[in-house]
Amino acid sequence: MFSNAIKIATLQGFDIKIDPSWALIAALITWSLSTQFFPMVYPGAAFSVYLTLALLAVLGFFVSLILHEMSHSVVARRFGVEIKGITLFIFGGVAELGSEPETAISEFWIAIAGPLMSFALAFGFWLMAQAGGLLAHEMALNHVFAYLALINLVLAVFNLIPAFPLDGGRIFRAYLWSRSRNLLQATATATRISSYFAYALIFFGLVGLFSGNPIASLWQVLIGVFVLMAAKGTYAHQLQSAAFKDKTVAAMMTPDAVTAGPEKSLQYLADEVMLPERKTFVPVILGNVLLGYADTEVLSRVRREDWPTTRVGDVYTPVDEENTIGPGMPAAELMAKISATGRRKFLVADGRQLLGVISLTDLMGYLAVLQDIRLQDGQKKRS
Ligand SMILES: [Zn+2]
Repeated sequence: MFSNAIKIATLQGFDIKIDPSWALIAALITWSLSTQFFPMVYPGAAFSVYLTLALLAVLGFFVSLILHEMSHSVVARRFGVEIKGITLFIFGGVAELGSEPETAISEFWIAIAGPLMSFALAFGFWLMAQAGGLLAHEMALNHVFAYLALINLVLAVFNLIPAFPLDGGRIFRAYLWSRSRNLLQATATATRISSYFAYALIFFGLVGLFSGNPIASLWQVLIGVFVLMAAKGTYAHQLQSAAFKDKTVAAMMTPDAVTAGPEKSLQYLADEVMLPERKTFVPVILGNVLLGYADTEVLSRVRREDWPTTRVGDVYTPVDEENTIGPGMPAAELMAKISATGRRKFLVADGRQLLGVISLTDLMGYLAVLQDIRLQDGQKKRS
């Protein structure tokens, strides 16, 4: 998600990374604090003082964000969920989970840990501002503490909005999940609620654009769009991992694939195999031995007038590690291979013995049917 993020430190075994987009928000906050906020709450000082206060405040905000994400990460690790790293980016911070939590209760604790930390920080900074006020009434630093107390409070409350990918969205899903014991259904409902929130954010943001506060409104629209996309992505991912859980290639492939011998002509392959069977991907076998495959791409490399005289054996693509997989490969692993390589069709073989073929279309078709069945199921339960 953040290919340009730069690793700045490792804390408790977690990589802390910064996406370049975070610099933009840091600069914006520094600018608005040094030119507006601090001159307002602490009038009569030099610009250099305001700039110093603003930089301290941004540093404090930065540390607060990291502590928020660290709490998610530490709790996740306690529950055995791997953390890929913590990244700060334009909309704040994110602790990237390497896998999904196994139970509703673990999801709940992992999600709530962040806002709890932000509430604690808000309270801590508020205490520091109060103590500072008693010790030295006119101390400029007190305003930095007060600002950090406020920003952490906002962070905690904002994150509790029940919309993915905010913590509140996960807490809400954990609640639905614990009630229905069906992660997929809980995700579907939480996703739907998230998109309502996202549309509301976008709507009020657009209204705000024309009534006074363009920067904050634009910000709101952007966050709305981000929430909308993230919510849809979460559901698609969840659907996929639930559908593919414990499934192997053998269970989802097309067995008894239509094949062609190497001695056949390309004309025969096109007219007698591909067209009547509606197959664009045909394994090539000799006796019981899998040699490779011929597809429409192979055909397109030979001039049409040469098809009758060209044999499949002269042009087919031989078996290799890229195009052939074993029957025991988990479906999720195949999905990852498809997105990493862009290849969409595979031979499934045990050694040189052909077992079947599998394509991205097979996987997607399975998902579509599954989703349809579950939706029907859900509608029945509601009515
Ligand atoms: Zn959080």
